[in-house]
Amino acid sequence: MSRGTHMDMKYVQTTCPYCGTGCSFNLVVVDGKVVGTAPYQRSPVNEGKVCPKGTYAHEFINREDRLKMPLIKKDGKFVEASWDEAISLIASKFKSYKPDECACLSSARVSNEENYAMMKFARGVFKTRHIDHCARLCHASTVAGLAASFGSGAMTNSIPDIAESTCLFLLGSNTFEQHPLIGRKVMQAKMAGAKLIYADPRFTTTGKQADLYMQFRSGSDVAILNGLMQEIIKNGWEDKKFIEERCKDYDKLKEVVMKEDYSLENVSKISGIPVEQLKQAAEWIGKAESCTILYSMGITQHTVGVDNVKSVANIQMLTGNLGKPGSGVNALRGQNNVQGACDMGALPVVFTGYQKVIDEAAYKKFADAWGFKDGIAAPQNGYEVTTMINVLADNPGELKCMYIMGENPMISDPDLHHVEKGLKNLEFLVVQDIFLTETAEMADVVLPSTCYAERDGTQTSTERRVQMWRKAQDPPGEAKLDWVIIAEIAAAMGYKEQFAWQSAEEIFTEIAALTPSYHGMNYTRLNRPEALHWPCPAEDHPGTPILHIGKFAHPDGKGVMHPIEYKAPAEVPDSEFPYILTTGRILFHWHTGSMTRRSASLDKEVPTGWIEINTDDAKELGIKDNEMIKAITRRGEVKVPAKVTKDIMKGVMFMPFHFAECAANILTHNALDPIAKIPEYKVCSVKVEKMEA
Ligand code: SF4
Repeated sequence: MSRGTHMDMKYVQTTCPYCGTGCSFNLVVVDGKVVGTAPYQRSPVNEGKVCPKGTYAHEFINREDRLKMPLIKKDGKFVEASWDEAISLIASKFKSYKPDECACLSSARVSNEENYAMMKFARGVFKTRHIDHCARLCHASTVAGLAASFGSGAMTNSIPDIAESTCLFLLGSNTFEQHPLIGRKVMQAKMAGAKLIYADPRFTTTGKQADLYMQFRSGSDVAILNGLMQEIIKNGWEDKKFIEERCKDYDKLKEVVMKEDYSLENVSKISGIPVEQLKQAAEWIGKAESCTILYSMGITQHTVGVDNVKSVANIQMLTGNLGKPGSGVNALRGQNNVQGACDMGALPVVFTGYQKVIDEAAYKKFADAWGFKDGIAAPQNGYEVTTMINVLADNPGELKCMYIMGENPMISDPDLHHVEKGLKNLEFLVVQDIFLTETAEMADVVLPSTCYAERDGTQTSTERRVQMWRKAQDPPGEAKLDWVIIAEIAAAMGYKEQFAWQSAEEIFTEIAALTPSYHGMNYTRLNRPEALHWPCPAEDHPGTPILHIGKFAHPDGKGVMHPIEYKAPAEVPDSEFPYILTTGRILFHWHTGSMTRRSASLDKEVPTGWIEINTDDAKELGIKDNEMIKAITRRGEVKVPAKVTKDIMKGVMFMPFHFAECAANILTHNALDPIAKIPEYKVCSVKVEKMEA
């Protein structure tokens, strides 16, 4: 800009589009374009601070490779098309399939309003039961496990509340890298004198701050938690009053956890954690005035994911650490709006607010409110995304058509060769996104949509806080809002009236009317720094930062203790594949990398992936640090640089999953938890070979 030119500059407050922490910051807008970020001090979540992802959250927005026009595949190549041509093609193809031949994937990246629009489209326009999204892949076990234990499947306490705790047990969550601004609250508690216990196969940045670090074999969580509960009961540290007044089935729980199988000596053999460390952890948890457990996908992504979550709930009920400050079962959700996408019913079994599709009254309520003259999808549960992929791959012809909004299963789902085989069996695939992702490349039609900086709307963070996005700039080219695209397709298929919204706010009003936990919310109430936590049942209700005060959400108000036995993972090391492979995220990248890898600053920090190998294992294998090697499982192989480190347990290897060129999910196993249908990303068997081998 030349000297003297008037610069039109403004700050637009918004919510971070990356992890589920839900930090607020300002987007700096110059002459109508977002050019940077700046602190927003008034958020109680992050108080003006952000992590590197938040700092550089503007860098991908105006990239040249943003999708700007609809693309239609002709003779194997994408050709730009007008919106009229694309929508009319999609509408005629969509109308040619039967309801059960169609499936939708909604998105944990887009707003609540857009997830609601997609859910209404699936059930009202496609009339299909098959709608899901990537919560299946990260916290489906949390939703199922906590609903069974407490009657409500969400993080129990708020983020600021973590700083109130006197004991923090972080299990299966590398909090300082995955949720850095929650890590800040952990450090505030620690600096105030709280004990910090950390259990993980890797000695991560989080582990390095712990008062007690317990290194354990992936997949032994239930045994560890049962052992800790046995030690707590043996020493009389359980909260007898809480158990008596607020819980049921304690006898059943006690019968299992007091077995010899869960003596600390046996748990030590299963997990690899020394007995003395287990004793110390049990004492700190058992004697703490308030203990919070923070967990993430290290707990959930297992064939026993629901068992793991119920076990976490068990120990917190046993010690009376629920329904009070500084306590709780705090499931840290990975994506910005994965909580909201679940709340909006982008799941195969519920409408909004977890109202079951098989519940006659809920079904009638939605069918009546929406007013589709030809009805809505049958009142039956549909397929989860993992089941959709299995059906596509193994039973070609059952599902024929898919509409995917803002998801990239070609990187995010387990066993990618299997996913590719499944998606190739589709007759018609529409993908709506902001970049040409690996999944979009496989589509018949690609529709350009908008990013967080280009829309108004709400998202619900991991702590159930419903916060605003505010439009800062126009979308590029002819890209449109996701809900507008959905409404235009619906109109072309004869359902204009049901999608006649003029703004995101109008959609939110419809959501609030149909969703008891959102009843008391509106844009005016949300438009303040602290926003609102659900449940917020009435317009004069202050919201609910801490769940389960006085009673649980089950009809009788009681928490249910579940006796859980330890079960080994689906695939364990053997002579052919002798190591455990576990996967996860890193500080500088997010999910499938479609946004962070297009951020120059983040990409410069970490340009590609790696496999972590314990120093002793590497020595035995003759592998040097940074050497390119092959990692091989029963699903496939990838070439990847080795990172030799003493910070990972011997016998265990780790890969981040963000990188297409060395995609960890080529290797992972799609064995599923039988209830949550979440894949076992955290454990499979692997071998590594030198390239010349
Ligand atoms: Fe964004 Fe999460 Fe970082 Fe906060 S902690 S700035 S929400 S990525």
